[in-house]
Amino acid sequence: VTTSGDLLLRGGIVVPMTTRRHWLVADVLVVDGRVGAIGPRLSPPAGAEVVDVAGCLVLPGFVQTHVHVVQSLARFRADGLPLLRWLVERIWPYEAALSAEWAGVAARLGIAELLLGGTTLALDMGTVHHQERVFAAARDLKIRFVSGKCNMDDGEGVPPGLLESTGTSLAEAEGLARQWHGSADGRLRYAVSPRFILSCSPALLDGAARLARRRGLLLHTHASENSEETNRVRELTGMGSVAALSHHGLGGRDVVLAHCVHLGDDEVDLLAKEGTAVAHCPGSNLKLASGIADVPRLLARGIRVGLGADGPPCNNRLSIFHEMALAGTLHNLAHGADAVDPWAVLEMATWRGAEALGWGGEVGRLVPGARADVVVLGPHSLAMEPSGDPASVIVYGCGAEAVRHVMVDGDLVVRDGRLVTADVAEIRASARTAAAQIDSVLGWRP
Ligand SMILES: [Zn+2]
Repeated sequence: VTTSGDLLLRGGIVVPMTTRRHWLVADVLVVDGRVGAIGPRLSPPAGAEVVDVAGCLVLPGFVQTHVHVVQSLARFRADGLPLLRWLVERIWPYEAALSAEWAGVAARLGIAELLLGGTTLALDMGTVHHQERVFAAARDLKIRFVSGKCNMDDGEGVPPGLLESTGTSLAEAEGLARQWHGSADGRLRYAVSPRFILSCSPALLDGAARLARRRGLLLHTHASENSEETNRVRELTGMGSVAALSHHGLGGRDVVLAHCVHLGDDEVDLLAKEGTAVAHCPGSNLKLASGIADVPRLLARGIRVGLGADGPPCNNRLSIFHEMALAGTLHNLAHGADAVDPWAVLEMATWRGAEALGWGGEVGRLVPGARADVVVLGPHSLAMEPSGDPASVIVYGCGAEAVRHVMVDGDLVVRDGRLVTADVAEIRASARTAAAQIDSVLGWRP
């Protein structure tokens, strides 16, 4: 639908994210879906489209390391609750009520919001059923997407519609991985996604780790998000979540743990030793009153950290800009006014996030040979004036409204602020219709 051929982004302020505090006015040539060259006054090959981006910032597409697009239709319907009540009273009943069609509508809304906000790669957790609709939406809207059905076979308050047997849960995950991992020209990948310790039996956690290793898949779960959850895990296992997960094989460079707010010293050591990645979700952690992950401490230990908005009903937006602004300011409370350099924040939102998701070297930096996942910001946003250090402009100044063009694999999926791969009016109308139907099924009055 969107094949645009070779393309030259002319005259932007290019921030390649190869080293901190480095940017240049240059053209970016995109050939066969990859960055061909970056430099001043490049000559476009015959037939290439030339897009004038003078005055705009040109960066690698943003990466989010933890989202739940399937939760999009519960947005504005689960406010004012802490994690476990938020799950049991609102999110699990919502997920249990989702039909295949509604799951697809929710995923399209979430993915459209991600792309329009400049996110070109995300690690997503689905619900127990209808994961094929999530992958179909990611394929059709053309985002780079690592996702998996949620596995859950145990736990208090889980509605029957979401409770699976261990064997069925793992077999379904493997079937989905076989069908979708590596599809859509390689843009879609499968992540084995047990929800969190409190909804997974030890056998499910062990099986998830074995399945991921056998098929070379990423492992994705939640850990130490909230103190009540962390206390229950300690009662159940005698360990913190990170230690308990590691005990079941969920530790290592192929593992992404969302949150990691309440960690023992031994667990920080374990994250550093095993190379496990952390998805820092400050917007969600603030809204659910979960706490503040000590990201400066994690970074100082060399622990891999990316950023994520988490689910639409716990944020309530999927904007990388909101997470960057929070990650760049929140830690000043504990560590002083220079706690996290804005360039360190931009790194988490680009190549560090990409590395955490197994896409390092392919996306996350603008260098010749990289896949052409690119975001162009400005120049219309007054919050970006009067210009300055690009990281400062982006982390402290920009919002999703600054996004002008977005490219995935060399195709413009957002052009002049408009989604090319789907009809936004249709996405909005379907979302409203489906949400009204779900509200009625659940007896909700938003
Ligand atoms: Zn989450």
